[in-house]
Amino acid sequence: MIKTALVTGITGQDGAYLSKLLLKKGYNVNGTTREISERKLWRLEYLGLQDDVNIHVVDLLDIVQVQGVIRSIRPDEIYNLAALSSVSESFVSPAVAMKSNVDAVSNILEAIVAIDPNIKFYQASSSEVFGNPTSLPVSENTSICPVSPYGVSKAIAHMYTRFYREYMGLYAVSGFLFNHESELRENGFFLKKVVSDIGCIAAGIKDELIVGNLDIVRDFGDAEEYVDAMWKMLQQEQPNDYVVCIGKGTRLEDIVQYVLDCYGVSPNVVVRSDSLTRPNEIYKNYGTNDKAFKQLGWMPKNTIFEVIDRMVKFDQEKSKAVK
Ligand code: NAP
Repeated sequence: MIKTALVTGITGQDGAYLSKLLLKKGYNVNGTTREISERKLWRLEYLGLQDDVNIHVVDLLDIVQVQGVIRSIRPDEIYNLAALSSVSESFVSPAVAMKSNVDAVSNILEAIVAIDPNIKFYQASSSEVFGNPTSLPVSENTSICPVSPYGVSKAIAHMYTRFYREYMGLYAVSGFLFNHESELRENGFFLKKVVSDIGCIAAGIKDELIVGNLDIVRDFGDAEEYVDAMWKMLQQEQPNDYVVCIGKGTRLEDIVQYVLDCYGVSPNVVVRSDSLTRPNEIYKNYGTNDKAFKQLGWMPKNTIFEVIDRMVKFDQEKSKAVK
């Protein structure tokens, strides 16, 4: 039987890769966006999927619209990826983060209860819910203690998800994903910015790369591999939450150096600015994927440096095409 999926935030990095995976598995793939525009569809176009997915314009903050799309599609699985996904942006607009990242989740869960409690639900949670952990690596048992508006919103959304699982009997799970990157990453995120700015410096278009604290350690992986963990989480006998990560921390400084080397650019272009330091910085964070490996059989293969190679190649091909 052909399964039907609904992917909110289908125009984003993970939405595009998840659509690719689900189509490969034979799903009927539907997605939501707040508005359709050429600019937003570029990832689906890049992967050649734009004609194979059905896109619905839905305001997830409006329960009537959420119920409408779920009623019309009757999905077997809902992947809730739509969110204000930038931690930095959440410091600028905390109320937007809270509304977008929490209300949509409660609307979808309520709609599932009302329409069909057999629909399985995946919530895109984040390692940011753990804040500055007192011990590493982070696991599913680490205390939830977010330190950014984004982290708080994802923590509340996770608790809603757990409530609907434990008390309403839904198959509803959270994936606590650590940073995952790719050539499809939204502009403005650290790694995308580093690759793009150093590429521009190499091309003589920019003079410097402005950065915040490069002593920070993060766990980075390959977005295309991480969406497979999302899918696996909805295929289990029992619903459960999982940490999804590489299991190793990398210093931001090492990442910058690697990209500089890729382009043959001198480290002298790197300029530190306090303006890029967050009010509540998480200095060191990495996780363990033991549970995901044991229960889901999920294990990442690519290191972040392999992902960077792809990102650099993508940018170089894009600039060749522009010339
Ligand atoms: P993304 O590229 O930013 O995509 C998210 C999508 O959500 C956007 O394409 C956008 O779609 C929609 N969106 C943006 N702002 C919104 C708002 N204020 N309200 C409602 N919808 C909004 O993010 P991603 O990297 O694919 O991440 C997918 C999900 O995983 C997000 O929930 C993110 O928070 C979470 N996550 C990501 C990472 C990571 O490292 N990438 C790590 C942990 C968790 P439209 O404009 O078309 O509506």
